[in-house]
Amino acid sequence: MAAAVDTAAVAGATGRLRVFFLPSFIRGHLIPQTDMACRVAAARPAEVEATVVVTPANAALIAPTVARAAAAGHAVRVLCYPFPDVGLGEGVECLATATARDAWRVYRAMEVVQPSHESLLRDHRPDAIVADVPFWWTTGVAAELGVPRLTFHPVGIFALLAMNSLFTIRPDIIGRASSDAAGTVLSVPGLPGKEITIPVSELPTFLVQDDHLSKAWQRMRACQLTGFGVIVNTFADLEQPYCEEFSRVEARRAYFVGPLGKPSRSTMHRGGSGNADCLSWLSTKPSRSVVFVCFGSWAEFSATQTRELALGLEASNQPFLWVVRSNDSSDDQWAPEGWEQRVANRGLVVHGWAPQLAVLAHPSVGAFVTHCGWNSVLEAASAGVPVLTWPLVFEQFINERLATEVAAFGVRLWDGGRRSERAEDAEIVPAEAIARAVAGFMEGGEQRDKLNARAGELAERARAAVSEDGSSWRDINRLIDDLLQARASGLPQMNSVQLE
Ligand code: UDP
Repeated sequence: MAAAVDTAAVAGATGRLRVFFLPSFIRGHLIPQTDMACRVAAARPAEVEATVVVTPANAALIAPTVARAAAAGHAVRVLCYPFPDVGLGEGVECLATATARDAWRVYRAMEVVQPSHESLLRDHRPDAIVADVPFWWTTGVAAELGVPRLTFHPVGIFALLAMNSLFTIRPDIIGRASSDAAGTVLSVPGLPGKEITIPVSELPTFLVQDDHLSKAWQRMRACQLTGFGVIVNTFADLEQPYCEEFSRVEARRAYFVGPLGKPSRSTMHRGGSGNADCLSWLSTKPSRSVVFVCFGSWAEFSATQTRELALGLEASNQPFLWVVRSNDSSDDQWAPEGWEQRVANRGLVVHGWAPQLAVLAHPSVGAFVTHCGWNSVLEAASAGVPVLTWPLVFEQFINERLATEVAAFGVRLWDGGRRSERAEDAEIVPAEAIARAVAGFMEGGEQRDKLNARAGELAERARAAVSEDGSSWRDINRLIDDLLQARASGLPQMNSVQLE
């Protein structure tokens, strides 16, 4: 096993509460869990030390964030264990760096790390374990060590409740999908608040057919329910009344601690090496004039869709900052002939990784074309930037409904054809539709004013939530108090309450 950065502290020489964080191999999980480790350590520097347990290449991705926390005097460390041999190339240790063809290997790696985790946790004996959703086995080790085990959720509460509720009618959903009624629109049962509808074609695959997740879903949920508690990167004002419902039925203790990322320039290298030039470029543009286009850390577009998007942004006549993932641009022909020259004065393409939080915080950004990954939705709300939604996979179509119908700070980019969570069933979004949506929004009017106002209000609430005595600030402190109390009381079995 590779060495810890500071073994003395990890071994508990300080008497501080030692909390271990175990994120899985997905960048959108790794980033917020590292932020969480930093937040906990910063909240009570004298009482808590946080250790992020990761594999070497993932350690490199979070190193700048951890180094900043350490420089501020907070006890945050990295503990490395080897990435399992699942046939991936050297340094490929998360979904963002694997090709779509190899994604299954990353999921396989998440399943086979159980023995590494178990021996590491037995060796280091932390006071509390915060583990990502797929790492269900940490419940057993935590029980053996007599320490609390918490689940960290990188997905929002609205989507979690919706998926759990849809899981209860899964046989009906599967029946509809197989009887060619995939266009059937379902009402999500049992959700508080307004009625939410969704076509079968937009549901995550595990709800529609058998896959690795459909088998694991109930087990992961049971871990969540029987564990000490659940930590979620959200804030109560964004997801009421869903947070109340979640606390009531989905967790013994729920802590809503977000937004964990602070929209500011200081997050330049969060989750990867951010491109600083794009911030300087943004500074040359007028206030709220630029459309930021980014689809998260691992989603891939076909060459055809990438070209349509390029043409659409060109035809919109609006300034744009577009993050093109290296896999999307690996083909030399990714952009139409002469496109880069034609848009040179008003468009900037970042290949690879942009400092998304810093970009969203920049005053020149006026809208965010997003795939509705949970972090992106939350970050846009926290930065007060309205969203044009273009969901691609998994729970993103559900998050879209939170952004457009519930929190109401966004609008769908395209509704004119067949949308589907299964890429092979989805229609290509045409350039004209992209141009129309982007230009229509950016040229202004009542809709833009309304969404700007709403986004601004959410940003205020997000700031209030993480400020002293705000809801998320209180939940982080409640979490630390609960963990300190658990350690002091020495309860032997904290994760073993039976499910009803
Ligand atoms: N991100 C970033 N730069 C990029 C792409 C993504 O900083 O070029 C960050 C983004 O700020 C967010 C995370 O990566 O924190 C992506 O998470 P999300 O849940 O939005 O999407 P996923 O990548 O899981 O699909």
